Amino acid sequence: TCAACLREMRDPADRRYRYPFINCTHCGPRFSIIRAIPYDRANTSMQAFTMCEACQQEYQNPADRRFHAQPLACPMCGPGVWLENAAAEKIPLEGHQDAIALASALLKQGAIVAIKGLGGFHLACDASNEAAVKRLRQRKQRPEKPFALMVRNGEIASNYVHLTLNANALLHSAAAPIVVLKSRHAPELATAVAPAQNYLGLMLPYTPLHHLLLESWNTPLVMTSGNRSGEVQCISNDEARIQLNDIADYFLLHDREIINRLDDSVVQFMDDQAQWLRCARGVTPAPIALPPGFENAPPLLALGGELKNTFCLIADGKAIYSHHQGDLEDASVYYSYRNAINRFEKLYHHAPALIAIDQHPDYLSSKLGWQISQQKNIPLFNVQHHHAHIAACLLEYGIPRDAAPVLGIALDGLGYGAEGELWGGEFILADYRHSQRLARLQPVALPGGARAMKEPWRNAVASLHQAFCWREIATRYPQLEFFQSLEEKPVETLVQMLDQNINSPPASSAGRLFDAVAAVLGICEHRISYEGQAAILLEQCAESAWDNAQAYPFEIKFNKTLNLHEIIWNSFWAALLNDLNNEKTIALIAANFHKTLVAALASVVDLLQTKHAFCCVALTGGVLQNRLVASGLIKVLTEKGVSVLLPRRMPANDGGIALGQAMIALAHYSN
Ligand code: ZN
Ligand code: ZN
Ligand code: FE
Repeated sequence: TCAACLREMRDPADRRYRYPFINCTHCGPRFSIIRAIPYDRANTSMQAFTMCEACQQEYQNPADRRFHAQPLACPMCGPGVWLENAAAEKIPLEGHQDAIALASALLKQGAIVAIKGLGGFHLACDASNEAAVKRLRQRKQRPEKPFALMVRNGEIASNYVHLTLNANALLHSAAAPIVVLKSRHAPELATAVAPAQNYLGLMLPYTPLHHLLLESWNTPLVMTSGNRSGEVQCISNDEARIQLNDIADYFLLHDREIINRLDDSVVQFMDDQAQWLRCARGVTPAPIALPPGFENAPPLLALGGELKNTFCLIADGKAIYSHHQGDLEDASVYYSYRNAINRFEKLYHHAPALIAIDQHPDYLSSKLGWQISQQKNIPLFNVQHHHAHIAACLLEYGIPRDAAPVLGIALDGLGYGAEGELWGGEFILADYRHSQRLARLQPVALPGGARAMKEPWRNAVASLHQAFCWREIATRYPQLEFFQSLEEKPVETLVQMLDQNINSPPASSAGRLFDAVAAVLGICEHRISYEGQAAILLEQCAESAWDNAQAYPFEIKFNKTLNLHEIIWNSFWAALLNDLNNEKTIALIAANFHKTLVAALASVVDLLQTKHAFCCVALTGGVLQNRLVASGLIKVLTEKGVSVLLPRRMPANDGGIALGQAMIALAHYSN
């Protein structure tokens, strides 16, 4: 909402005084209300509202700030807002009270209110009311993942987080994303908002409705997406009444239909520069110019990955990157993803001549791509997961098609590698067309397969067993808390599985290394409740000891059979256990681990530089959202004169891979 609209909204003499849908050509909804193009009112959900005479005049007057503002509306002719209880009964208003003020009053009493916003529903409650926040966690079945907050203004935000000038500017930008920043001591904030976290995600009110709602709040509101855990955010009143019925006490609804679901965008700061973690409301879909060499690109559809999915169209020489879709394994997300693809193809009059997918045969996105390719008889191109991560980074930096290769360091949870191997810690010499793997983290078994992704202790046992033999190490350090914490776990069975190679596929995953280290240090050792939890907490734990930390030893060996360098962690684990035994602090050990990883990765770069020509190093994959690793590595490499590319505008996680898939497929097919 622009400043001029806010002024009018607060002016009792204005005809849009306190109107929650005030907008003009400089502000207001767009993508969330579009059904088709051209972007005319008739093609939006504002079609349902006939403009009154006063609005019509503004719409037709070229001198007016609202000339051809498609969502133009006023209290006389536009959408309205009302409040319901969980039984879908409208709450009657008394005197001059309005529904938004009443909702705000109920929030102050501890109620959970589902609020229909711009691109979907939020669930809101008073962030300083411990009982309310806990109730929301319980009802939403979201035990630990931090909740985002909304605060009335930047000044209030600065009571809760360390706000730099750059972060403040982004917080106040028109895109108004959730900005994740280091938290300050704020005892009034409920601990259940972000358990065990040193960071908070904050946003400012971004629609007139939110401005009105926050009007009397000098403390934050929890504003978490309006869904059950894992499912998509509700967008229609009926969906919300059904899905959120046993979560929300009240529903603040309106009758401007949301056509396209748009989650809040999320951004963090690293070395005081923004790094986008999730792109949706305010930033997508925005076309990205293709780099030199891709002038004759055919229309293409890239279907993305499985988690944090996004997809991408290539149309008219541009990459059109979709908003965040979510984790496709949830049926509601998958359904919404298919609808979004259909809508994009309509909006952009797009008919793909080429389909790009991930090589993983079980990703739902890959299966869908395969189906579309069969049905429409369009060629299909399989793209290796980590090559896609690297190519997305090349696109972000506008690297030309025929540029010299870069050394990509792709660190993530898991991706499908050559011959069905599980990769996640790879050094790949790559351009858009070619990729050659030169080094990796030494693979470690994932005992129990998918369960190892959720239970960090399994990775710890596998890592220690590989380095030393489990029985030996467990008897050597019987007093360590980690070994004691496993008393009730089927460790013997696990070790047998590892020895006999049963359901324990090897993976060169950086994500699992973080899980293993976190578990040994007693961080989330039993189970994680959201993706990346152990790694995120390990990073935060390391921060306080960073300045005193030192790398542990590590080895780099050359694997002749595979023609690959491998980073081996045996001496690292020995040093870590020794420090733990000598009662060094968990924070220091965690920081030492981060420094070890940075040092090991930099050493491999050194080694490869003597044998291969690359112009720069591209750091990508979800692990490079770890501030200590990414900024540590940038520092070391820059000091050695190596230039570094790090995804900042596009997510480094799997949210970025659709772009990389598109670029690699284009490089193979077009000329
Ligand atoms: Zn405006
Ligand atoms: Zn009107
Ligand atoms: Fe990945």
